Amino acid sequence: MDDILLDVQDLTHCFRLGRNRTLRALDGVSFQLRRGEIFGLVGESGSGKSTAAKCIMNILRPTAGKIRYLGVNTCDPGQFRSHRKLLQTSRQIIFQDSTSSLNPRMTVAEIIAEPLVIHRIRPSRGSLRAEAAFQLKCVGMDPGCLDKRPPELSGGQRQRTAIARALGMSPELLVADEPIASLDVSIQAQIINLLQELQEKYKLTYLFISHDLSVVEHISDTVGVMYLGNLVEYGDTVDIFKNPLHPYTKALFSAIPIPDPTAKMNRIVLEGSIPSPANPPAGCKFHTRCANCMEKCKHEAPEQKEIEPGHFVVCHLYDK
Ligand code: SF4
Repeated sequence: MDDILLDVQDLTHCFRLGRNRTLRALDGVSFQLRRGEIFGLVGESGSGKSTAAKCIMNILRPTAGKIRYLGVNTCDPGQFRSHRKLLQTSRQIIFQDSTSSLNPRMTVAEIIAEPLVIHRIRPSRGSLRAEAAFQLKCVGMDPGCLDKRPPELSGGQRQRTAIARALGMSPELLVADEPIASLDVSIQAQIINLLQELQEKYKLTYLFISHDLSVVEHISDTVGVMYLGNLVEYGDTVDIFKNPLHPYTKALFSAIPIPDPTAKMNRIVLEGSIPSPANPPAGCKFHTRCANCMEKCKHEAPEQKEIEPGHFVVCHLYDK
């Protein structure tokens, strides 16, 4: 158990929509992250990926479930208070949209130094400016950008600045919530390469959220597939991409473009759109779109089963 950095058990989060209505954005999600691992979380918009990231970062308080980080139950206010500094420094997040996650009035130097100031951390390179210059170099930017403000930077430079800000806290866990979704394709490749280099250099652990399956296959060691607040399949990246089990995973993967114009794609087209999490279908939440739907799928929610070592699926097709 020593190499488990993050242990998420039965994580549930409901948003209140009104007096009698709730939206169950996460519904009993469980997974573990080992140290140095990159865990890719995929799924359509509205599947609960970002809500999971926000609960893990204590931006949202879970309605139920447990999140243990380095053995600390981060959902317990008492434990959170006693380990506040550890929890607020060694876990960092990179948001999708650097335009809104960076303050346009601050300089790059101020942005990178701000967390150190807030947490009263003495900069290891003498001054806050020297520390910011060092972190900027680590993410491949010229220290000449230190006095620029976010609107003067390109999209790629802004995202590098956001990564530098996170790195300045010497994190162990980096939660990257769609870090390349708002970038051009050529810049996306640069940011992915940078994240991989940093992961190897600093032995970081990533929770990497994306809807780009090719990128997730490229970067991740393990993959979790989310649908309507549930983790429907979870396992080693090679196993999941070679042998997807859940009908939803199969449909998602069938849409990955093949870089060969002569190759025939056997695309599985899903009918309709993802149902509202405020009013999810009974039984298996995927049954309204599943080509393999059976009668019991409409009434009975499937349980998680381990089909091969470390490869889990939630589907009645695999009931014994
Ligand atoms: Fe399809 Fe039934 Fe499996 Fe749900 S449980 S994914 S409806 S086969």
